Amino acid sequence: MVTRNTLLYLSRQEGLKDFATRFRPFKKLTTRFVAGETIEEAVAAIRQLNARGCTASFDHLNESVTKISETEEEVREYLRVLASIDDAGIRSNVSIKLTQFGLDIDPELTYKNARTVVADAARRGNFVRVDMEASSVTQVTLDIFKRLRAEFGLNDVGIVVQSYLRRAQTDVEELLKIPARIRLCKGAYNEPPEVAFPDKKEVDENYIRIMRVLLSSGVYHGIATHDPHMIEATIETARQRGIGKEAFEFQMLYGVRRDLQEQLARDGYNMRVYVPYGRHWYPYFMRRLAERPANVWFVLKNMLKG
Ligand SMILES: Cc1cc2nc3c(=O)[nH]c(=O)nc-3n(C[C@H](O)[C@H](O)[C@H](O)COP(=O)(O)OP(=O)(O)OC[C@H]3O[C@@H](n4cnc5c(N)ncnc54)[C@H](O)[C@@H]3O)c2cc1C
Repeated sequence: MVTRNTLLYLSRQEGLKDFATRFRPFKKLTTRFVAGETIEEAVAAIRQLNARGCTASFDHLNESVTKISETEEEVREYLRVLASIDDAGIRSNVSIKLTQFGLDIDPELTYKNARTVVADAARRGNFVRVDMEASSVTQVTLDIFKRLRAEFGLNDVGIVVQSYLRRAQTDVEELLKIPARIRLCKGAYNEPPEVAFPDKKEVDENYIRIMRVLLSSGVYHGIATHDPHMIEATIETARQRGIGKEAFEFQMLYGVRRDLQEQLARDGYNMRVYVPYGRHWYPYFMRRLAERPANVWFVLKNMLKG
């Protein structure tokens, strides 16, 4: 039986990417979760999403950046993305990871890199979401976000809160005082029980508790989940409290629950799809398989067929 931990282990073995991509069916299947290796391919994918009533968020895949020159290349990539959004006339914002901008090297460098991208987005009337990564960088990510938010507007830059973290509710209370636009998600990293709820039930309960606070805050937030229970709870809370569909958005990952994405868009909800692209797609792809082991059998079946 292929376990989640095996897949998370394989996701860290980049060398396997070259082996796996020799199988044409594997390469083809990656396009289900990754929009391509170039900005142009991601733009084409976003055009299709826009045509189906969904907005998007660009995510340039690159992890474990360790050189200053690489962080600068990430900044240039995001400036190209922001320009491409305007040139193509597509409806999309961008999501950034601070480790891409140098968090493992120097927080000050990271802040400056992120600031360049946020300033360009603000000038263009676009928006930058700062993704949340592992708990070892939660505090420094929030600190850098708060500096950016102090300089730029509510609609220029936003942050992410993970409901599996024990600190999540306190963080939300602090962030709403600023105020800040928040993407609420469950959280995707392996965390120790001192830091994160080990029990899925507690993660879900915390998600619903925080979702209710966000919906009533009067700020436009993102409810990021594929979980039908979380989605139903959000719709029900909005209905009971008379909160309009325009007051928040649902968010999902590219290629995950496409049926539900389209259904929510058809029902008049704001639906944003997170669109990852780039040459370093392998770890991201493997983490998506790890989230739902049934996907592995889907991949293997197709590889054997090919
Ligand atoms: C837009 C967006 C942005 C995100 N940003 C961050 C971030 O900044 N930081 C962070 O830590 N995490 C982030 N995540 C990931 C998130 O934390 C979860 O790991 C992920 O969304 C799975 O949780 P879930 O809410 O969908 O619920 P789960 O309980 O994991 O899943 C509920 C149901 O959703 C479906 N599903 C979930 N994943 C898959 C899949 N891969 N393939 C097929 N079906 C699936 C299944 O039907 C499953 O039963 C983001 C997620 C989204 C949607």
